Amino acid sequence: QADIAMYYAKDKGRDNAQFFMPEMANVVTKKFGFDKEINEALVSDHFALVFQPQVDRDGQDIQGLEALIRWHHPDKGLISPAEFIPIAEESSLIIKIDEWVIDSTLKQMSHWRAQGLEMIPVAVNLSGRHLVSDSLVPYVADKLASYQIPGSMLEIEITEGVLLQDIQRCVEVLTELKGLNIKISIDDFGTGYSSLSYLKRLPLDTLKIDQSFVEECDTHTEDAKICETIIHLARNLELMIVAEGVETASQADTLASLGCEIFQGYYFYKPMPADAIQSLLNQRLVLS
Ligand code: C2E
Ligand code: MG
Ligand code: MG
Ligand code: MG
Repeated sequence: QADIAMYYAKDKGRDNAQFFMPEMANVVTKKFGFDKEINEALVSDHFALVFQPQVDRDGQDIQGLEALIRWHHPDKGLISPAEFIPIAEESSLIIKIDEWVIDSTLKQMSHWRAQGLEMIPVAVNLSGRHLVSDSLVPYVADKLASYQIPGSMLEIEITEGVLLQDIQRCVEVLTELKGLNIKISIDDFGTGYSSLSYLKRLPLDTLKIDQSFVEECDTHTEDAKICETIIHLARNLELMIVAEGVETASQADTLASLGCEIFQGYYFYKPMPADAIQSLLNQRLVLS
């Protein structure tokens, strides 16, 4: 949002300070051709998915994967989702991107299955705008059916901020997704501003401890205490817990001693292209 506001303010002249308003995003995306570029990326296949394994402490057992989008821009090179997703989220472009991610993930899963691999759950990130829209549930239901993927193999990650917008609508949609057996995770848990009361109102499966708490969990007592509290909260509510952004053995050991059982981070695996995941899963098939 800050970036958009800055573009907009510059465009209007330096003296004309602007506060961010949603309609500015539309002005900016049109003016700077962002929407054209996203549409071009969609039709020309410039988006790709990478997948990051979620593992147990010894890294042997792959419990699931998270699908993460990449944009291979023909002129600008690789663009991080942290750059373009927030801009896309200001308009309905995010729905097109999210739909591309859902379709591509399920297509990839059906491809892996055709290669004889055992199916493992895959998580996708969804934006709030898409979550509360009427089109999400029918879209997902249709894609699960056409790729013949059980809903239980798909997980949807949303951030706490999403729940702030319209909790009643979120309860409705998440309940419908649960009806398809889809799993629901709260991403970046602990960084939002929402109250804990939503945890009991929503049909959740997993909390993902944000990497900002993981980063110094082995060196700062406060961070360790926060991780411990989140892990206990999850246990009491019978939710799964995943630690994100685990980069060292020491962080993994600390988290394991606090009761964490599933880990995601560079210490174990970086996000990888689909063919690398296939080799990894094949290797596991041979070993077991
Ligand atoms: P996220 O969902 O919280 O994803 C975790 C991010 O942390 C990913 O960055 C991942 O590559 C990175 N990461 C994983 N392990 C480590 C680690 O050990 N150390 C560090 N420093 N980083 C680690 P990425 O792929 O750049 O994605 C950033 C954010 O962009 C995601 O955060 C998510 O909010 C959003 N995003 C990514 N893909 C999608 C998508 O397909 N759709 C939507 N709507 N948002 C997406
Ligand atoms: Mg995520
Ligand atoms: Mg996260
Ligand atoms: Mg994040």
